[in-house]
Amino acid sequence: MMYGGRLPGVFRLLQLHFHFGDGSHMEQGSEHRINHQGYPVEMHLVFWNMKYLSSELAIKSPEGLSVLAVFFKVTSRVNTALEPIVKMLPHVGYKGKARTLSLNLDKIIPWKLTPFYRYKGSLTTPPCTENVIWTVLERPMSMSISQYKVFVNTLSWDSNPYRPVQPLNGRKVTFCNA
Ligand SMILES: [Zn+2]
Repeated sequence: MMYGGRLPGVFRLLQLHFHFGDGSHMEQGSEHRINHQGYPVEMHLVFWNMKYLSSELAIKSPEGLSVLAVFFKVTSRVNTALEPIVKMLPHVGYKGKARTLSLNLDKIIPWKLTPFYRYKGSLTTPPCTENVIWTVLERPMSMSISQYKVFVNTLSWDSNPYRPVQPLNGRKVTFCNA
């Protein structure tokens, strides 16, 4: 569940996914950049607004979705909280493959959620609906180089899995450091 931090309601987790590059550049892979700085991996936790009766309804409705974006940098330390995901990746290497796993989300996102950036935008993958409240955490998490390589080497894609940075088009980005 995600709430507070000036979010309009209580949001329930729908799915999580990762964006990353081809491994050739450590500043490429994330969809967001902070002061032009990119990261090799960006995780998206997608939540739906429980004021709607279902996630299907929320996806099509105003302020229906809230995405928490967490950057990952690559270090020498293994992130044990990520291991269940890393171990499962070779089994879901192709689109449409699914596995069930249990995760401790508290350990996968930073213990302190501020500072963060907030803006209203769209999903970065189809249907790209403009009803998403984005929360981008400034503080990155980390994973080891071997964990990173599992992401890069075991997954396949038709085109780059990250969308290039989009123009702001007058959207306001607020910064919260409370
Ligand atoms: Zn995403």
